[in-house]
Amino acid sequence: MTRPTALYRAIRWLCLGATLVGAGMAGAARDAGAVQGLHHDLAVRLDPGSGELFVEDTVAVEGGGDLAFALARRLAVERVLVDGVSVTAVMQPVHAQRNQWRIPLGQARKVRTVVVRYRGRLDALPAADHREVLHGLRPSADPRGSFLPGGTGWYPEIGAAHFTYRLSLDLPAGQRGLVPGRLIAERNEGGRYRATFAFVRPAEAIGLMAGPYQVREQIVERESAEPLRLRTYFYAELADLAEDYLAAVGRYVELYSRWIGPYPFTEFSVVSGPLPTGFGMPTLAYLGADVLRLPFIRGSSLGHEVLHSWWGNGVYADFERGNWSEGLTAFMADYTYREQEGPEAARQARLELLRDIAAIPPGQDPPLRQFTSRSHGTSQIVGYHKGTFLFLMLRDLLGAPVFDAGLQRFWHDRQFTVASWADLERAFEAASGRTLDRFFDQWLARPGVPRLRIETARSARNGPGHRIWVTLAQDQPAFTMTVPVVVTTPAGRTEYPLNVDGVRQEFVLDVPARPESVSLDPDFRVLRRLDSAEMPPTLRQLMVDPRTATIAASAAEEMRALAAELARALLDHPHAIADGGSWRGDSPLLVIGLSADVDRFLARVNLPGRPRQVGIRGTAQVWTSYQTNGKALAVVSAASVDALRALRRPLPHYGRQSYLVFDGPRVVERGVWPAHSPTWHFAEKEQ
Ligand SMILES: [Zn+2]
Repeated sequence: MTRPTALYRAIRWLCLGATLVGAGMAGAARDAGAVQGLHHDLAVRLDPGSGELFVEDTVAVEGGGDLAFALARRLAVERVLVDGVSVTAVMQPVHAQRNQWRIPLGQARKVRTVVVRYRGRLDALPAADHREVLHGLRPSADPRGSFLPGGTGWYPEIGAAHFTYRLSLDLPAGQRGLVPGRLIAERNEGGRYRATFAFVRPAEAIGLMAGPYQVREQIVERESAEPLRLRTYFYAELADLAEDYLAAVGRYVELYSRWIGPYPFTEFSVVSGPLPTGFGMPTLAYLGADVLRLPFIRGSSLGHEVLHSWWGNGVYADFERGNWSEGLTAFMADYTYREQEGPEAARQARLELLRDIAAIPPGQDPPLRQFTSRSHGTSQIVGYHKGTFLFLMLRDLLGAPVFDAGLQRFWHDRQFTVASWADLERAFEAASGRTLDRFFDQWLARPGVPRLRIETARSARNGPGHRIWVTLAQDQPAFTMTVPVVVTTPAGRTEYPLNVDGVRQEFVLDVPARPESVSLDPDFRVLRRLDSAEMPPTLRQLMVDPRTATIAASAAEEMRALAAELARALLDHPHAIADGGSWRGDSPLLVIGLSADVDRFLARVNLPGRPRQVGIRGTAQVWTSYQTNGKALAVVSAASVDALRALRRPLPHYGRQSYLVFDGPRVVERGVWPAHSPTWHFAEKEQ
């Protein structure tokens, strides 16, 4: 197992949605020396124009033997002093991008002051797009924006221990810069910008950013804590967004301070960068200028990052025993914002999470405890989505006041220490006075998720009301959980929470009026594998399925070529265009063509026809449905060659939709077909 590096904890790819999801990062070479009480005092001079970096690091270390540290290969040590005496550092390459340096400290175990002076020339920004940047994160210096990420060896990396630091930064006039932590001082002097920062909590890495920024600041007074300094470090062209960002950060800090406990730092900054990426660090979020313009950043990603000030950067996740911080943050940020929009938006959010979970092939769905950090799609779904559901079900079980008391206790007891799932469990047990080990064990340790169904149901008159016998079933081995079922009568809907713990169980429910139907978890509050009726088909199903075949319904050579081009843009695994005449109907199918040809083809091979919702409106219509064999079907129907060509760029962005109507490249209508949870309809006559 590759151990997540400190880089992951201290600098995290922001959760910006699929387009910006990062690939894994190269691990830092670390020497697990027995260094304790580590403190760096760094004087950093950076000239973005020339790329020249000059640093003097004064380290207080406790311990004997050799002091080993890693430094990027571009940087050369010029001088080392131990307690004021010059010593020779021995260099050894350990990694494609870094060297290891060793300094003899002597035998006595006492606190020593080591001064390391080093310099080098950093690369300018890569010209390529962010994908390339994601694969080899290196410190770079550039007048448009410098970024020296933590874990890339731009400062001496000593052991794997936490450390505190103070850093003074010296930049040419016109540039501003920062590192995570409290701003102690800043001034413009002698044609230079100088600022000093201190990080007094245990840090795992230091990220440094600089650029031609305009700084906007807002000081927020707090009742029982020091004032809070909110800042934007934005490029001039983003000036119009600064006020909105400051206000949004202020709102998020207030929300979570009230919900969990006071914000644990004295600053939060939003920093713009030249590349289309996003990183979260303690006390700041660093985002590409183009990314900052996306509306969902202020609406959710920013709040998610602010919340990591508590979960992740305030209480550290125990990566060896599972990362709880992403699930808890996703629940209290991303999911919570959908709840704030209203019950229908929250239900839709739960359905989307369960749909993603259902897309994991059975048997490849690892336990939540195995999630350590985001590395690929499945791992992200497990860590974020299953995590969200764990906390949602826990809140449903305990009630919101007790759940919140558990969160507050966890924060109070564990801030600035490493905590595990077991620590969370203990906090919720203390707050609720109940034993939760079965709940946590089951949802953390078991692979897969339950698959629930209504096996049978009947009803009969019972005194003035009616009685229902309903049998719920699930796959072996059974999960234990509370499953809401909803009974509909002419008088309305009534919800019954049923405690399920067997493979097949009958429940008896008394209802006041004659029941019409009983539905299983129609509001999607339980972590479970949806059945296909609950998953109205969307484009994404066909886009990710490696078996999806494409048929060009129009025979003209130009149309076939366009269909192939569209299939390549849309599908993760495009195959050659299949021949409509030989279609056997044994795989998911994408049909592309002119409207009349499409309708003719669907009728000829007995596939569901054009839905009323799309008709022949606009210049092109796209819809999904199921073939009679249960496999998904998507149809792209265009009024002309030009109308079809206009879909190539926009269409791949609409994977979550079931149907769309286009006018040229513009979407004029879209939607998801309704989902039907497992429902038993009672006959008119009771048995
Ligand atoms: Zn996160």
